[in-house]
Amino acid sequence: SQGQWEVDPEELILGQEIGSGQFGLVLEGSWRDLKVAVKMVREECMSDEEFKEEARIMRLSHSKLVQLYGVCTQHSPICLVFEYMENGCLTDYLREKKGSLSQDLLLGMCLDVSEGMAYLEMSNFIHRDLAARNCLVSKNNEVKVSDFGMTFVLDDQYTSSQCSKFPVKWSAPEVIRYCKFSTKSDVWSFVLMWEVYNEGRLPYENRTNAEVVDSLNAGLRLLKPRLAPDSVHLLMEWCWKEKPDDRPTFGLLFHELASLSDA
Ligand code: ADP
Repeated sequence: SQGQWEVDPEELILGQEIGSGQFGLVLEGSWRDLKVAVKMVREECMSDEEFKEEARIMRLSHSKLVQLYGVCTQHSPICLVFEYMENGCLTDYLREKKGSLSQDLLLGMCLDVSEGMAYLEMSNFIHRDLAARNCLVSKNNEVKVSDFGMTFVLDDQYTSSQCSKFPVKWSAPEVIRYCKFSTKSDVWSFVLMWEVYNEGRLPYENRTNAEVVDSLNAGLRLLKPRLAPDSVHLLMEWCWKEKPDDRPTFGLLFHELASLSDA
């Protein structure tokens, strides 16, 4: 029931600001002796009904998903209480460690994310905004998927493919054209592998969204990152097949990446 997820504000200690996202501030804090990250969600960002529906999804629990511990809805703004991830967002982490990341580590990151995503896939849940910026890194360098179930609080600017905030550079052609989201459009967004092997570089750095769309329509794809072995690049290209059915599942990607890491 809902009650079980309600965090008692008396038990929640708020600390310093550690970031700010699209929905509002993120603070560090503690809750029942656990170090936590508290996302304060601006009220205008979500309706109560939507929130209850989607909070259901965020209750999924897996070691490769950033865990939601509970929600504090008694005061405004609403607070979402999450597992604390010491090493912050994956994009920043990659940029900071640039030049020192081993092949094992790079592959391990992709493996972690594919495992988390395979679990979402198995749970019939579409992330809709998979990208390195939406993954977090734990104290022991484990990568976990975050921000699943958050797209419901995004404004139209982000969700309409016509607008500048829409993540075109991570979006499958069918999402750009018809907003047709699926597990297979999440697989396309495994562009994240490209980000990992480029140590946090932005895909299509100097291109506008319109230019990206043109190049996709012409059948062009992101280039092989210098650090990526051919085997990994092949997997990327598989994720970027025009037809959703021709792309692998996350289950299969996990399996393939695992066999590369054993090799
Ligand atoms: P948004 O996705 O809306 O941009 P984020 O969820 O990325 O916002 O949060 C913004 C920043 O807050 C992140 O880049 C990260 O540095 C920090 N942050 C968010 N969640 C956590 C967490 N669970 N543990 C540690 N830091 C976090």
